[in-house]
Amino acid sequence: MNNCISEKMFALTQKNSAVREMFEEGRRLAAIHGAENVYDFSLGNPYFPAPDRVKTAIVEVLEQDEPSLVHGYMPNAGFPDVREALAKSLNHRFDTDFTGGNIIMTAGAAGGLNVALKTLINPDDEVIVLAPFFLEYGNYVSNYGGKLVVVPAHSEDFQPNADEIAKFVTEKTKAIIINSPNNPTGVIYSEDTIKKIAAMLNEMQEKYNHPIFLISDEPYRELAYDGAKVPWLTHYYKNTIVGYSWSKSLSLPGERIGYLVIPSELHDFSLVFDAAGIANRILGFVNAPSLMQRAVAKCLEESTDIASYDANRKLLYNGLQAAGFDCAYPQGAFYMWLKTPCDDKEFVKMAKKYNILVVSGSSFACSGYVRIAYCVGTKTIEGALSGFAALAAELGLRPRD
Ligand code: PLP
Repeated sequence: MNNCISEKMFALTQKNSAVREMFEEGRRLAAIHGAENVYDFSLGNPYFPAPDRVKTAIVEVLEQDEPSLVHGYMPNAGFPDVREALAKSLNHRFDTDFTGGNIIMTAGAAGGLNVALKTLINPDDEVIVLAPFFLEYGNYVSNYGGKLVVVPAHSEDFQPNADEIAKFVTEKTKAIIINSPNNPTGVIYSEDTIKKIAAMLNEMQEKYNHPIFLISDEPYRELAYDGAKVPWLTHYYKNTIVGYSWSKSLSLPGERIGYLVIPSELHDFSLVFDAAGIANRILGFVNAPSLMQRAVAKCLEESTDIASYDANRKLLYNGLQAAGFDCAYPQGAFYMWLKTPCDDKEFVKMAKKYNILVVSGSSFACSGYVRIAYCVGTKTIEGALSGFAALAAELGLRPRD
């Protein structure tokens, strides 16, 4: 008898996510060698705990808010007072003039992206992504029958090149997803890059006479080092939807909490906003988790331990450089993007011999690199450096002073 699941889902069961596969592999190796001897850099799961204020905020909500308010249904877009507080915080930080009426609370960035795509995409609409990219984008676009269009990596500096992107825009382009600070490269898209993309999209909207939406996926917004600025995109392009999440910035990935910002100047704003609320409902989220909505509203000025991620960044970068590897010095997020002197999948296999788990660049549509997630305890990096040095020697690289 044929299997009963859908063809799309069957195809997905045959190719598990490489990141998840490495995560499972880490658990297997830890059972054999002991967790302290396995250096798992595969998953973007924050090591440093949520700030203490998150815990006290959750307790306050549970003790002080009406039970029906904490645990009940609310408008699909989220609690009005939470959205209002969030809009004020954004206005203060980014010099904008949002109200709660521009905010939809979502189940993390993944939930927000799905809400945005469900709202915008008709079957066969094209959605542009820039390699290397978070591979789940492909699944999210496919959820709504959209077609993913991949712009190859601009591997000089991994700043997107607007002229290159323009070559991939067609009559069917409905949206482009960008992600800065970037997973997997750690690159922050500069203001110059953003201005050029905005100018190009404006030109393409004119040419094809329909809106092209810029979906800015920003779960790493606050993870920017050395005072680097992450441009706020609604200042540069009218048809921007911003997606955010507290998964990384407050170390809450399992709580599934984030939001979308839909600016009033967006094309057909009211229609898009109403549709997004409905999408949140009918995708089965109904609304973002209520307790977490109320708790994060009390933590809008909180931050994760950026100094510790920064210390990890420096320790890992210096160690890899000294071993002879080449990688771009990341400006944001918590990923190192290492250029492999051999095939990247082969590199992943070789690293495993030293109990080091990394993810191949091919898993982000960009071969020749691996991603090293340094959102780990410092000891993991310290423990892995001798293995990285031995791997570099095995690959014939010369150590640097
Ligand atoms: N977008 C990017 C670029 C990510 O790296 C991730 C998670 O790693 C997500 C979206 C999903 O984040 P969330 O946990 O908020 O759904």
